[in-house]
Amino acid sequence: MSAATSLPSDTRLDCTRYARGLFIGGRWLPGADIAVVDPSTEEVLAKVADAGVDDAMAAVDAAAAAAPGWRGTPPRQRAEILRRCFVLMMGRHEELAVLISLENGKSLTDARGEVTYAAEFFRWYGEEAVRIGGEFRTAPSGANRILVDYEPIGIAVLITPWNFPAAMATRKIAPALAAGCTVILKPASETPLTAYALAEIYAEAGVPDGVVNVITTSTPGPVTNAMLNDPRVRKLSFTGSTAIGRVLLAEGAKTVLSCSMELGGNAPFIVFDDADLEAALDGAMIAKMRNAGEACTAANRFYVQDGIYERFAAGLVERMAALKVGAGTDPQTACGPMITRKAVDKIEALVADATKRGARILQGGARPEGKGFFYPPTVLADVPRDAEMAYEEIFGPVAALYRFSSEDDAVTAANDTEHGLAAYIFTEDLKRGLSVASRVEAGMVALNRGLLSDPAAPFGGVKQSGLGREGGVHGVLEYMEAKYIAAAF
Ligand code: NAP
Repeated sequence: MSAATSLPSDTRLDCTRYARGLFIGGRWLPGADIAVVDPSTEEVLAKVADAGVDDAMAAVDAAAAAAPGWRGTPPRQRAEILRRCFVLMMGRHEELAVLISLENGKSLTDARGEVTYAAEFFRWYGEEAVRIGGEFRTAPSGANRILVDYEPIGIAVLITPWNFPAAMATRKIAPALAAGCTVILKPASETPLTAYALAEIYAEAGVPDGVVNVITTSTPGPVTNAMLNDPRVRKLSFTGSTAIGRVLLAEGAKTVLSCSMELGGNAPFIVFDDADLEAALDGAMIAKMRNAGEACTAANRFYVQDGIYERFAAGLVERMAALKVGAGTDPQTACGPMITRKAVDKIEALVADATKRGARILQGGARPEGKGFFYPPTVLADVPRDAEMAYEEIFGPVAALYRFSSEDDAVTAANDTEHGLAAYIFTEDLKRGLSVASRVEAGMVALNRGLLSDPAAPFGGVKQSGLGREGGVHGVLEYMEAKYIAAAF
């Protein structure tokens, strides 16, 4: 395994050009305080501005000033602006992919996939913007009519994580704008450059000043709290860890804020004896290794039935061993670095805990020396069910294999978690697949597939994986309020 530290010259980008400052009211407010580090080399790519509470309140002022105009903009016009965002993003596809790869570390293949996925939210919600309907019905008593109108909820604060710097932002911004809301985006400190690059696109696409504001901060707690406590802010949409989600829900309670939460996952990946082995292995590689395991939907626990267990383990080892580890921007790389040294420390501790309890390392399992936050593709067999990694997100390239005998046992084990985001099931028996899909506690189930994200589908979790849905026709409703008008006629 080699952890490449040099980048091909054609993938060098001057990242400082994206660090123009805070983007508030259509203007750039300069600042260069928060270092953005390339996780492959540990070199500083650029420094972005550090917003304080006053800057955050200026962003709320800008969003408030732009709100009436945007709310009153005809849906067709909003739709065309969103469509232009899609076209402009696709026009800068490779540049954005390299930028994501540099600041996040993910492979170019994954970064390219993310840009396409992220841009699709603009296309989808451009199409949805003109199809937001209302309701009209007769009251059961027959005495009056029930009219329901959907109105933009108001100013939205959007907070995003580092693992999908483009897609987590557009999955919020596109439906919010389609609904007629103005927004303030606070991207993760590790990967703010993509968010600022996209801000250039909004302006070029014709998004009016103040409709989208982007701020970065080294003090997310106080800065966010100030915005959430402002009565003009009516929506919080957060994607990140369950721990921070709980903190923000408590803060939002103070103003009875509408909160959408896309939180952590602990996805089970269940392989039955009758599964198509090759399909299950292909699915496993996508579900585990997209983003080098740094995905909320990543398969965290592989439950494999006795009869297929050894063959599945052997196939997975072969595929994981073949992955090249290196800088994301190296076109040969299949597994880039983790986001930070802390992330590698966490993975290492989870693997140590599992092996201490009896898990066997079939592949990988030792971090390399040298620069960069690398961890190798790893396969662990016979992981005991009380291992910490059975309850914690690994968020790295470690496949943990658990054995099961009966369907009931698999379902019970899969549901033994506070999370409920994604689940994967592989079986050739459709009846069993659908039955297990309905018994598994998850917001999303992939049946004989390793990938489920789709801008046209409702993405979200149950239990402590979140509240609300992003994507599809559901996503826009998170930014709208139903107004009921009782009409007597
Ligand atoms: P995180 O630590 O919760 O951070 C997420 C965002 O919250 C960042 O922008 C962070 O800012 C901000 N933040 C941190 N503390 C805050 C506070 N007190 N008040 C307001 N904002 C605060 O999560 P992460 O490590 O970036 O992302 C990984 C997690 O996200 C995983 O658990 C993953 O499963 C989850 N995730 C979920 C989904 C989904 O759709 N369900 C998608 C992707 C990721 P700073 O960067 O400045 O700290």
